[in-house]
Amino acid sequence: MKPPPFDYEAPTSLDEALALLAERGADGKVLAGGQSLVPLLNFRLARPEVLIDVNGLQELSYLRREEGALRIGALTRHAALEHSRLAASYWPLLTEAMGWVAHPQIRNRGTVGGSCAHADPAAELPVVMTALDARFKVRSTRGERVLSAGEMFVGQLEPGIEADELLVEIEVPPVPAGTGTAFLEFARRHGDFALGGAAAMVELDPEGICRRAAISLLGAGPTPLRPGDAEAALVGAPVDQASVAEAARLAVRDAGPTGDLHGSAEYRRDLIETLTRRALLAAGERAGGGDAR
Ligand SMILES: Cc1cc2nc3c(=O)[nH]c(=O)nc-3n(C[C@H](O)[C@H](O)[C@H](O)COP(=O)(O)OP(=O)(O)OC[C@H]3O[C@@H](n4cnc5c(N)ncnc54)[C@H](O)[C@@H]3O)c2cc1C
Repeated sequence: MKPPPFDYEAPTSLDEALALLAERGADGKVLAGGQSLVPLLNFRLARPEVLIDVNGLQELSYLRREEGALRIGALTRHAALEHSRLAASYWPLLTEAMGWVAHPQIRNRGTVGGSCAHADPAAELPVVMTALDARFKVRSTRGERVLSAGEMFVGQLEPGIEADELLVEIEVPPVPAGTGTAFLEFARRHGDFALGGAAAMVELDPEGICRRAAISLLGAGPTPLRPGDAEAALVGAPVDQASVAEAARLAVRDAGPTGDLHGSAEYRRDLIETLTRRALLAAGERAGGGDAR
């Protein structure tokens, strides 16, 4: 199918884009990499009157480290993050997850901001950004707001961004020394959207005891799920088979995966529990612990 007719605007500066969004945002859509929006248009699941193409805003394409934090411009392509030595050195969870996103052609066009603004619970970036406590900077002619992951991912395909706002930057805080991270998912074919997945982050003290844990689940509900009880259960314990089994059990307690022809809800819940256990063990091993078997 082909999309219904739409007007097309291609601003060349951020101010111009924000003015267009203020004027027409309620009836329009931002076009970034187009890897999610164009299929939605073609299936006529979205019928915006105007597309505001932000690909001319090259000032929104960057990866830089400032005061220990990673700043990612919203227009940064997936491939740039995937191959970033900076990200691989300090935030390997991001580069590990990127390898699971779609196919190289899609990663060449798709943007980090587009994946976050699309807010698909089966997408990898929202899940790892949630584990990393990323913050999302949005701008409009009314000013600037900074959203937490919980405020950004409010529902399925429902970001916490107003119609006149543009996501301009994602800030990822520093990962403390002694921290290991891991991301795992399962899809029927590589590049397909996953049936379930888990991101894990474990910080160990010098004795190998967990000081802090973060878990974020993929496909466990309408948004990435941070199971607080599971994270708390690991703190003060070694990251071993017994502690991660208990944490994984708690992690899926509040999960509500949806079943479909690719897998029942029960299957997905079991899958997410297993992947959470494995991701926690791998993160513990990478943090310098060592019970990953
Ligand atoms: C065959 C196929 C397989 C795929 N598999 C995966 C997968 O396994 N995992 C995965 O995560 N994704 C997958 N995707 C989706 C892909 O990663 C998209 O690139 C990504 O979800 C959206 O990024 P984009 O830049 O293309 O955004 P677009 O498609 O341009 O936009 C997506 C949405 O975000 C809004 N938007 C974009 N940028 C901004 C901004 N800066 N501020 C405010 N709103 C904005 C748009 O208006 C639109 O609503 C797949 C896509 C295809 C076609």
